[in-house]
Amino acid sequence: MTEKNSGLDIVRQQEQLGASFIDGAYVPGEVDPTFKKVHPGTGEELFVTRFSRKVDVANALQAARRISDTQAWQRVPPYEKREILLALAAKIDENAELLGVLDAGEMGKTISDATFDAHVSAYLFRYYAESLDKWFAKSMVSESSVLAYNKYAPRGVIGAIAPWNYPTCNAALKIAPVLCASNSVVLKPSEHAYLSTLLIAKLASEAGLPNGVLNVVTGTGEHIGDLIARSAACDMITFTGSHQTGRKIMRAAAESNGKPILMECGGKNASIVMPDMDDDLSSLAERIAAETYANQGQLCVASSRVLVHKDLAARLTEELCAASSRRIPSNPFDPASSFGTIVNRSQRDRMIAQINQAKGEGNRCLLEPSQEVLSRSGSYLNPVVFDQVQPRDFIAQTEIFGPVLAITTFDSIEQAIEIANCTEYGLSASVWTRDFRAIQKVSNELVVGKLKIRASLEPARGVGFSLGSEPARASGFGVETGLEALESYSRLMSLEITG
Ligand code: NAD
Repeated sequence: MTEKNSGLDIVRQQEQLGASFIDGAYVPGEVDPTFKKVHPGTGEELFVTRFSRKVDVANALQAARRISDTQAWQRVPPYEKREILLALAAKIDENAELLGVLDAGEMGKTISDATFDAHVSAYLFRYYAESLDKWFAKSMVSESSVLAYNKYAPRGVIGAIAPWNYPTCNAALKIAPVLCASNSVVLKPSEHAYLSTLLIAKLASEAGLPNGVLNVVTGTGEHIGDLIARSAACDMITFTGSHQTGRKIMRAAAESNGKPILMECGGKNASIVMPDMDDDLSSLAERIAAETYANQGQLCVASSRVLVHKDLAARLTEELCAASSRRIPSNPFDPASSFGTIVNRSQRDRMIAQINQAKGEGNRCLLEPSQEVLSRSGSYLNPVVFDQVQPRDFIAQTEIFGPVLAITTFDSIEQAIEIANCTEYGLSASVWTRDFRAIQKVSNELVVGKLKIRASLEPARGVGFSLGSEPARASGFGVETGLEALESYSRLMSLEITG
């Protein structure tokens, strides 16, 4: 992609294909006059948004119900399911550039990150496809006349509701384990970025997925999302998004058929820096900045709080400001861009209001929003850094979901743990240390689902989504990654055959 606008033309063409993907085909939607689709890189209007209609949601749920009731997907042998999902992974890889263009055009992620995300999505389909013949339930040692064992049964129709920040990865994370556990699905991506999810559904159909197994509907959460959450045709909801929305979905599920829910919500994640990490503060700051500003800070596990030992605080703060200022927002379609935009103007303006609130409450802002960046068309915001933040301050407690870093100083590991745990969330944390006692202590006492201990300044290759983990507190519940995700989307049965 060299021409800035050719990307937007592709986004417009893709939107013409339809607003839903139901029972193996695109379905046109209806115009939502309240919703204008604007490219956050330039501020220009992309198209007048068309979303799914109420009848489309009903049709999608009916198609998924038919598959579940006839066991049409459940009866496909595991090795055939695996071939279909591997074929889908290959198609996603082939279409990675197109999927990247759609995400960059809709939500302002840089084109290099968005293309990379598409390959990550392909990897996720491959990971779960390969698990299909390696996933076993238990049998019990029993007397010779009894055969007693567990069986994983599909839950049925899964309603999946996803956010906008990693559109292709969020779609793959929702679809791949759900399908491997033999369920059918109706997926509603975010109204702010949904074209790549629709394309993945079409690619799945081309890869041989039977019609009706994977259906995608689009629209706002209050309208289309709520219809899914309240539907009695839906046996389970898997949700990723804010905990405020998660609670609405819990209410809708309770008020309808009491369906179970898996919830992956937000975080206010701490990066704890221990005093032994003082050998190369410039590289350390660069590594922390990479964890803080990935996707412009619009990442559930972003390190939005840095807790630094008092002995390093002054020097590390200086280095963090330098690393933050090196991240220059630029057009997401520029292949050299490494820092794109905020998803839209209203989210950007909400962040500015939150930054102003923190300043109004007396927090010291070391790196301010740049007037030059704010004055551009589109929704740009540069990294903003606060220091001397107290643990209970608004800016230390609120998930901004943008490029805003709050630095707090601590005296001891005990105090660092207390500060890290003192938010309503429990999603993830990073700890920078080589001190074994500190490692043991944080692994026992931090209340999070994902804990990253960083004893090296080398970029971590990590485990991606291969290890399951469960968020704590307001960050959600249930496991949506690793092989355990297959269990989340299954009903465990016990069977006892006496003969
Ligand atoms: P959001 O909660 O506003 O929306 C998420 C989804 O829910 C969207 O599809 C939206 O349309 C839908 N929705 C909204 N109201 C609804 C309702 N009443 N009924 C049914 N559906 C409804 O979140 P967002 O702004 O899209 O995403 C940002 C949030 O997501 C942040 O809090 C972030 O931390 C979280 N997130 C968490 C993870 C994770 O894995 N833990 C990953 C990505 C994002």
